[in-house]
Amino acid sequence: MLKTFPKGGIHPTENKITSTVGIKKMTVPKVVYVPISQHIGIPAEIVVNIKDKVEIGQVIAKSGGFVSSNVHAPVAGTVTKLDLIIDTSGYKKQCIIIRTDAKNESNFEDIDYPLKTEITTEPKDILQKINDYGIVGLGGATFPSHVKLSIKEGTNLDHLIINGVECEPYLTADHRLMLEKAKEIIVGIKILMKALHINKSIIGIENNKKDAIEIFKKLTAEEKEIKVAALQVKYPQGGEKQLISALLNREVPKNGLPLDVGVIVHNVGTIFAIYQAIQHNKPLIERVVTVTGKKLENPSNYWVKIGTPIKDLVDEVGGLPEGTRKIVNGGPMMGKAIKNLDVPVTKGTSGILVIAEDEASRGEPKNCIRCGECVYVCPMGLEPHLLMNLSEKGMYEKASQEDIMTCIECGSCSYVCPSHRPLLDYIRFGKSIVKKLNTAKN
Ligand code: SF4
Ligand code: SF4
Repeated sequence: MLKTFPKGGIHPTENKITSTVGIKKMTVPKVVYVPISQHIGIPAEIVVNIKDKVEIGQVIAKSGGFVSSNVHAPVAGTVTKLDLIIDTSGYKKQCIIIRTDAKNESNFEDIDYPLKTEITTEPKDILQKINDYGIVGLGGATFPSHVKLSIKEGTNLDHLIINGVECEPYLTADHRLMLEKAKEIIVGIKILMKALHINKSIIGIENNKKDAIEIFKKLTAEEKEIKVAALQVKYPQGGEKQLISALLNREVPKNGLPLDVGVIVHNVGTIFAIYQAIQHNKPLIERVVTVTGKKLENPSNYWVKIGTPIKDLVDEVGGLPEGTRKIVNGGPMMGKAIKNLDVPVTKGTSGILVIAEDEASRGEPKNCIRCGECVYVCPMGLEPHLLMNLSEKGMYEKASQEDIMTCIECGSCSYVCPSHRPLLDYIRFGKSIVKKLNTAKN
């Protein structure tokens, strides 16, 4: 039987309509809008001025502290403005705006470097390069990777888990990357095992990506230290805690980290970015983005420069279809609606989903009928109906006691609620207030 996590979970329609579409190279944008805060932690500090000429890959904002990340120029060009721009979060963020130099050949170089398997970089230099090249978690969390990998002496770490689950409906960026860059990802895994001084890793992939499972099984047949595990298709299998529980039967303690049970988890996209940083000195200036939706002319996966306006991506797939209701940054379960197509792609953008009117209609919210469905599907064992009520009534202390902060925002509760209650919306809001209250207390 295929492995999976024990509590809750749902089976949303997969809609992986771009899974057979190879990753294309997105047209280089004329202008990029690069936020200085694309990661969890302190924003980076701008180190360029208006009218400066920048080269591709040059640091344009320096890490603002330990939990922060460098930001690099995704194109060669001229800094035209330093301005506040609305990003995918819906808030204005400081951005560096660069006009692309259409004559600079480095803007059009092919990113397909030859495979380099020999790892000559020493462990401490691996961490330094990951820091220097601005690598953050590309699975959506955008936590700076060098922080995740800075393990205190005496920590009992024994496994690296590679997250190739991609359980969000519609998204196929990781799936395509696994099919097209499997050999590089394996080198990336070995780089991290060397840096962490461990010899056990497991690549977890949902069983709806049989082609990727097959490729990795074939490539690792002689590798005793790298295992490949097919996982049951169940949402949210890609949650860190759910993945660890499925693969190793270990439970991360409440408010704890994977490290507490001897594990580090990295997404396949992050592993590929680490491979490029260590083996080819390439900073994180582009990533794979799935641009999808049932009504789009050419839904596809693209290599996209960080800072590319989402409008350019939508134009690339044939423009917005008539009757578009909603554009989502990410997938339908955990993604957030964006109001403005000028917002740029950032390190955390894994997909853009265009939803038509007839798909978007969420029923009118009605009273809770106490069916218990939301409790049944919650993978964290929470009571979503209660958390929503507490958040709605402003009872944040109580919501905190009821563990609102352990919610992983998977949206399973909202998905199943027969009364169409906006459970996740309220829980997210409640979490943001509890977080602020907790910060104020400390
Ligand atoms: S309460 Fe949070 S973790 Fe539980 S189902 Fe809802 S969104 Fe997911
Ligand atoms: S699923 Fe909806 S109706 Fe059922 S208990 Fe939860 S909130 Fe109430």
